[in-house]
Amino acid sequence: ATDGITLDDYIRNIPDFPKPGIQFKDITPLLSHPEAFRAAVERLAAPFADRGVDAIAAAEARGFLFAAPMAMTLGVGLVPIRKPGKLPFTTVSAEYALEYGNDRLEMHSDALEPGRRILVVDDVLATGGTMKACCDLVRNAGAEVVACAFLIELGFLKGREKLEPYEVFSLLSY
Ligand code: IMP
Repeated sequence: ATDGITLDDYIRNIPDFPKPGIQFKDITPLLSHPEAFRAAVERLAAPFADRGVDAIAAAEARGFLFAAPMAMTLGVGLVPIRKPGKLPFTTVSAEYALEYGNDRLEMHSDALEPGRRILVVDDVLATGGTMKACCDLVRNAGAEVVACAFLIELGFLKGREKLEPYEVFSLLSY
């Protein structure tokens, strides 16, 4: 039933958000259309059904929106990666560069066992800094990054290059 859905029809372009000159990809129309949302989750999960994925990891907040239904679809658990100070147990962290300064992401220190095969998910790949930090957390825990999966890839920002040698999969590219 979701075969005929063109996901691009459900992505809205918002000029000059959050700053002048930025074309923001707004995924809220997709989230609000159940068939489109389902199609996106199915198409993100399907390529990884036979890849021996043990768990999905994703960063807040929009990454969670796709990671949770993908985890259900693939029958695996979900590891939340969060902004500093949000996770209650012992954490490990990874830094990444922002336009001005640095930011940090945290994961529970016992979230991943060594050797686990992890699919890392986010809504949008821009510069790749966020996903790189997530992959660093996975690798530092001794686990393996199977691939990085995104609904949207902003190709001109070359995030794919920053994520080398990891496999990058995206459903829409702009
Ligand atoms: P990066 O770290 O530069 O790759 O930025 C990726 C992060 O910023 C992701 O977690 C996205 O949720 C968010 N992001 C960047 N650009 C957009 C956009 O155009 N639409 C929605 N989210 C975006």
